[in-house]
Amino acid sequence: MNDEPDDRTSFADLGLRPELLRALSGLGYEEPTPIQREAIPPLSAGRDLLGQAATGTGKTAAFALPVLERMAGGERDRRAPFALVLVPTRELAVQVSEAVHRYGRELGARVLPIYGGQPIGRQLRVLEQGVDVVVATPGRAVDHLSRGTLKLEHLEVVVLDEADEMLDMGFAEDLDTILAETPADRQTVLFSATMPGRIDRLARTHLSDPVRITIGREQAEPGEAPRVRQSAYVVPRAHKPAALGRVLDVEAPTAAIVFCRTRDEVDQLTETLNGRGYRAESLHGGISQEQRDRVMTRLRNGTADLLVATDVAARGLDIEQLTHVVNYNVPSAPESYVHRIGRIGRAGREGVAITLAEPREHGMLKTIERVTKQRIHMEKVPTIADLRARKLELTRAALHESLLEDDLESFRVVVETLTDEFDVMEVALAAVKLAHEATGAAADEEEIPEYVPRSGPAGERRGREGGGERREPRRPRRPSAGMTRLFVGAGRSSGIRPQDLVGAIAGEARLNGRDIGAIEIADRFSLVEVPDSAAQQVIASLRGATIKGRKVTVRRERDDPR
Ligand code: AMP
Repeated sequence: MNDEPDDRTSFADLGLRPELLRALSGLGYEEPTPIQREAIPPLSAGRDLLGQAATGTGKTAAFALPVLERMAGGERDRRAPFALVLVPTRELAVQVSEAVHRYGRELGARVLPIYGGQPIGRQLRVLEQGVDVVVATPGRAVDHLSRGTLKLEHLEVVVLDEADEMLDMGFAEDLDTILAETPADRQTVLFSATMPGRIDRLARTHLSDPVRITIGREQAEPGEAPRVRQSAYVVPRAHKPAALGRVLDVEAPTAAIVFCRTRDEVDQLTETLNGRGYRAESLHGGISQEQRDRVMTRLRNGTADLLVATDVAARGLDIEQLTHVVNYNVPSAPESYVHRIGRIGRAGREGVAITLAEPREHGMLKTIERVTKQRIHMEKVPTIADLRARKLELTRAALHESLLEDDLESFRVVVETLTDEFDVMEVALAAVKLAHEATGAAADEEEIPEYVPRSGPAGERRGREGGGERREPRRPRRPSAGMTRLFVGAGRSSGIRPQDLVGAIAGEARLNGRDIGAIEIADRFSLVEVPDSAAQQVIASLRGATIKGRKVTVRRERDDPR
C-alpha cells in the first residue's frame, strides 16, 4: 500500500511541550488534524491567523494548543488574563473552555467561561482570583468590561471563533468594543466557517499580516472517484451509537471499517456494537502488533465483521472484503474523507460510504461535497418500523432458502398433527414467528429525532424578516415542521431587532444560532421559531433574562397572540 498521505507530522513535530503532548495522548488523539498541522507552528511563533474551518476540523485545539504553549513559555503577570476567546454561544463557550482546560491541565491553566444567563457573581469571584484564558460570548464580555471586572490591557492573544456566526448574531459592535480594549500588539486569531466580505473587513481591521489557512480548498484528483454510494445521516451526538446500529442493521455489510477520532471512542463504540450483536474489533495506536495481526486475521476469515479504528491505526490496511466505510464523525478534512473511502469501490466493486454528522457539522459535509465534486445523499436514520420491516424481510429470505432446499420432510408430522386443530395458515404464522424470534434481533425502541436542515444562511433569512415596511407581521399559518413558535412580549417599539432575539436565545439557552428558525417582529411583540425539543428550555432560560435591558414575557404562541 503506498496511497497513504505523506504528511505524518506528529504533535511532537509541531514543537509542543511535553505537558501538552501528554494531555493529547491521554485524550486518545493520535495525530494532528490538517488544520492543526498548518495552524500550530505559525501561531506558536506569534503570527496572526485567518483560518477558514468549520466545526469538526479540530480548530479548537488548533488555536488552544499554541495559546497554552505561548503562555507557558513566557514571563507575565499572572493576575491578568493571557488570552480571550470570543465565541457566539454559551454552548460553545462551555465546550471551548472544557477543551482548553483539558489540554492545559498539566500546565495549571486557569480557564473561565463567561456567558449570559449564568449568575455574574461567580464569574466575578473567579475573575478576581486570576484567570489565564477567558472564553466569553461578546455580550457578556462587554458587560464585564463596562463594570471594570474584565481587564484586557495585558492580554496577549485574542481568538475570534466562529466569527461568521458572531456577525450573524449581531455582535459586530461588541467585537469592536472588546478589541478596542486590548493592546495593539496582541496576537489575533480569527476562525470562520465561511468567508463573506464582512469577515474580510473584520480581518483587515483587526489582524496584522495574518497567515491564511483554508481547510477544504484542494481539489480531489480527477478520475480518483471510486464507485461508491455515499450517504450521510445527521444525528445529535447522544443518539449516534443507536443510529449507527440501525444503519448497520439495514445495510448488513459483509465487512466494514468504522472510523473514530480517538482511542476512547474506538473502545466505547466497539463495546456498543458487540452489545448489539456485531462482531466488532478495535484497532488504534495503543494496540500491539500482535493483537493487530489477530484482528486482521479475524476480519479476513470472516470471524469479525466490523473493524472500529482510528486513521492512524488503519494506515496501510488493505482489506479485500471491505464493502462499507463508516465515518462515525465527519472527517477533519476532505482529503481524509477521500482517503478513507478510497478503500472501497476498487476494481469495479461497489462500495458504500456512510457518514454520521452532528447538526453542527452539516457545513463540513457541504465542504466535502464541494471539494470531491460528488453528491453525498442525506438519508433519514431508519425508524423502528423500517428496522422491523427489514428484519422480517431477512426472515422471509431465510424461509425462502429453506423451502428451496427440500429437506423439510422430517417436519411434516408436526404440521400434520397441528392441522387437526388449526388452519395451515395459522401453523405457518406460528412457525414464522418462532423463526423470526430465533434470529435474536434485539428490540430497539429508542426514538431518534429527525433532523431537518433548513436552507439558506440563517443570517440572510432573518435580515429580510426584520426589515420592511409592514407594521404587523404576516404570520404563516403554522410554524415549520419540527418547530415551535414562541411569543416574546417585546417588539419594534422597544427597539428589538432579530439579532437581539437570536443573541438572547443563543446566549441564554444552549442553542446554536443556526437552529433558530423564522423570526417576525411586530410593533409590540415578536414571534420566534425554535426546535420543538428546545422550546421548553428556551422559555425557562429566558425567564428572568433581559432583552435590550428589559424583562420580557416569553411563552408558547397561543392560537392568536393578539
Ligand atoms: P472541533 O473542530 O475543534 O470542534 O473538534 C472536533 C472534535 O475533534 C472534538 O471532539 C475534538 O476533541 C476532536 N479532536 C480535535 N483534534 C483531534 C485530533 N488531533 N485527534 C482526534 N480528535 C481530535
